[in-house]
Amino acid sequence: MDGQYGDSTRSVKSVASEVVPGQAVAPSPVPASTFHLSSDPSDLQDSYGRSSNPTWRHLESALAQLEGAPSALAFGSGMAAITSVLRVLAKPGHKLVVPADGYYQVRRYASEYLAGQGVTVVTAASGEMCAASADADVVLAESPANPGLDVVDLHHLALQCRSRGATLVVDNTTATPFGQQPLSLGADVVVASATKALSGHSDLLAGYVASAHTDLMAKVERERLHSGAILGAFEAWLLSRSLGTAGLRFERQCHNAAALAVALRAHHAVRAVRYPGLPDDPAHRIACAQMKRFGGLIAVELADAAAVHRLVERSALLIASTSFGGIHTSVDRRARWGDDVSDGFARISLGIEDTDDLVADIEHALG
Ligand SMILES: *Cc1c(COP(=O)(O)O)cnc(C)c1O
Repeated sequence: MDGQYGDSTRSVKSVASEVVPGQAVAPSPVPASTFHLSSDPSDLQDSYGRSSNPTWRHLESALAQLEGAPSALAFGSGMAAITSVLRVLAKPGHKLVVPADGYYQVRRYASEYLAGQGVTVVTAASGEMCAASADADVVLAESPANPGLDVVDLHHLALQCRSRGATLVVDNTTATPFGQQPLSLGADVVVASATKALSGHSDLLAGYVASAHTDLMAKVERERLHSGAILGAFEAWLLSRSLGTAGLRFERQCHNAAALAVALRAHHAVRAVRYPGLPDDPAHRIACAQMKRFGGLIAVELADAAAVHRLVERSALLIASTSFGGIHTSVDRRARWGDDVSDGFARISLGIEDTDDLVADIEHALG
């Protein structure tokens, strides 16, 4: 039934509370470290704040609905979610494939920590993911990849992983569940940072894991309990509050990105543009097959670092900041952080400003 609804309806429904006359429509956060215990130890109630609490449950139910999963687990950040899943899945002697062109800290964690635990870590660019995964035990794919925005054929990769007994984990941060649902494409597990477009207000960090594999989810939950990589109750509450408008915000962000991508491609100061929604983007065909929306990020290449700085200085709407998915349109020059890109490469994250205002402002600022 939910599949028939549009994104904003799904957003609103995901955080709807149970109808109980006299009770608040919007649940309050429960920032409890400890709960009153029943005399019967077999009662499965909330007991301690690192194990479970009602504020997580409300959020996790919404995230599970949005990803089309039976359950989801909230974490203190995207990295907390991703590293917990990798610790559960990637064991000594296993081969793990991670994206060469994806989020850099995942690659670092794999090579600096997991490799030391006896895991063979292989990096592969999005386009090489299928070939590199042939004899893997665990494959982590990211699509569209941050920051270059190349797209992985997730259905094809999922079929291959399934036939060889490998577990496919997909980082759904850039697409969000409004852009694509990796589980419906055959992925075993979704991991994501909710710090970006899902929370959308640049005021919290959070992450989550969603999957239909109950045994695996039980292990990931245990890993969260033991590692303590938990989300605070106030952040969980703020994120639930934000999810109600996430579909609406993401729709505008995608609309803004599509309009700006067209304008940038026509601008003489721009050397190259990547946006999966552009009909002549190399990833467009696969993106159309697996994505419902093409996302709020654009990768752009200007002449050099100075050209990116000038763009921000001359613009009345752009801010220079890292991360993405917030209500403000922002620019991040990725060479600053050591990504393998040119000095003039910038990731633009579209906010929810009016499309015409943004396009006019950025065209003017580019000169
Ligand atoms: C930001 C990001 C992460 C890490 O998320 P945090 O919430 O910052 O820990 C992981 N994957 C991708 C694709 C990201 O963009």
